[in-house]
Amino acid sequence: MSDLGELYQTLILDHNKKPRNFGALDGATHRAEGHNPLCGDRLTVYLKLDGDRVVDVRFAGSGCAISKASASLMTTVVKGKTRAEVEHLYRRFHDTVTTDATAAVDTADLGKLAVFAGVREYPSRVKCASLSWHTLKGALEDTALVSTE
Ligand code: ZN
Repeated sequence: MSDLGELYQTLILDHNKKPRNFGALDGATHRAEGHNPLCGDRLTVYLKLDGDRVVDVRFAGSGCAISKASASLMTTVVKGKTRAEVEHLYRRFHDTVTTDATAAVDTADLGKLAVFAGVREYPSRVKCASLSWHTLKGALEDTALVSTE
């Protein structure tokens, strides 16, 4: 297994065991529910925006280890970011996990999210990893219900 693959496994286990920012958010200004019918993952993303900035973000729901770990890591990364920064990260994350596994990807600006490039080795799990990001985007755009289908 590659180094990235090993990092990926470690991160998934850690965030699945101790999800960060888990549970409903009081005073959320935006929220959306996401569903990945392929796996059965369901989660809700709560956002609190102050002007253009995400001042708080939490998630709740149930799903597989990958969907949960991805949501957990996402909350730690987007907190404090502006709407434009979050949308940039969304696109970068999406591009990274949907690039063919044999192709090189530039993950230099992704920080910890770079680990999710490892999901490309498991194509059936890509929707698990991206569900929280689709749901986050839905919340920002006031789309209440998001499905990966
Ligand atoms: Zn899943």
